[in-house]
Amino acid sequence: MIISGKTCLRSTRRRPRAIHLAALAQIAAAQLPATVSIKLTQFGLDVSPEACEANVLALAERAAAMQSRIEIDMESSDYTDRTLAIVNRVQDRFPGYVRAVIQAYLYRSENDIRMLSSRGIPVRLCKGAYHEPAAVAFERKPDVDANYVKLMKLLLAEGNCPAIASHDENIVREAERHIREQKIGAERFEFQMLYGIRRDLQRELVSQGFRLRLYVPYGDAWYPYFMRRLAERPANLIFLAKNLVRS
Ligand SMILES: Cc1cc2nc3c(=O)[nH]c(=O)nc-3n(C[C@H](O)[C@H](O)[C@H](O)COP(=O)(O)OP(=O)(O)OC[C@H]3O[C@@H](n4cnc5c(N)ncnc54)[C@H](O)[C@@H]3O)c2cc1C
Repeated sequence: MIISGKTCLRSTRRRPRAIHLAALAQIAAAQLPATVSIKLTQFGLDVSPEACEANVLALAERAAAMQSRIEIDMESSDYTDRTLAIVNRVQDRFPGYVRAVIQAYLYRSENDIRMLSSRGIPVRLCKGAYHEPAAVAFERKPDVDANYVKLMKLLLAEGNCPAIASHDENIVREAERHIREQKIGAERFEFQMLYGIRRDLQRELVSQGFRLRLYVPYGDAWYPYFMRRLAERPANLIFLAKNLVRS
């Protein structure tokens, strides 16, 4: 499970930190094999990168003490460099207790994966959820999907405990095929999906012995989070309706 707190920013930017520390305390108390996932803008990246980093380090310190991990979501491409810089500094202080997110739609992602893998930083690979210009990202779905498969194979070969985050059945089948062909043990990677999406595929993966981590949003700002996900990709509204019917 990945707990992803949806909280409103307040002037001090300390509220998200307190809420995520509390979530980690509850994870420890319940002895859950769970992580927390955060967005750096929620931690004040636009306001004070120094305060943002201090808050993230406090969270990573707590996660390391309980053998959990923090996962740092990737936002739009304006934030990629700044996000990876903080990921690197968290890795310097708490090696192995931070996971980065890489988006397959960005042209730069192969280089970023090679940099992260060379430092032993675990990566969650997703397609990417923001509207990006053609100057930085593939625009056509077939191109994004092809790059996803290429990067997924790179991560499975060179990455440290990569997470394959997708509900795309074609991609999941390609992952399964590649994993069997290359005889990659199920303990060397995990699948990740959003809570409630493609439950049929989730159950199937678990029944085959694969590890699956679910991303669960929580907190008091769930409505803006929900609206943002819809706004990022209006097609999500259709996905949502289809999945409600399927469920
Ligand atoms: C665990 C996890 C963490 C993520 N973290 C990030 C992140 O940090 N940064 C970022 O930019 N993006 C993130 N994403 C979102 C990701 O980039 C994609 O936008 C999203 O997962 C849809 O891509 P897909 O691979 O599922 O394939 P798609 O081809 O988009 O979808 C395949 C099928 O999955 C189903 N589906 C997909 N999404 C939804 C949905 N929202 N509601 C209902 N059904 C759906 C539909 O049946 C669809 O046909 C994350 C996704 C996951 C699963």
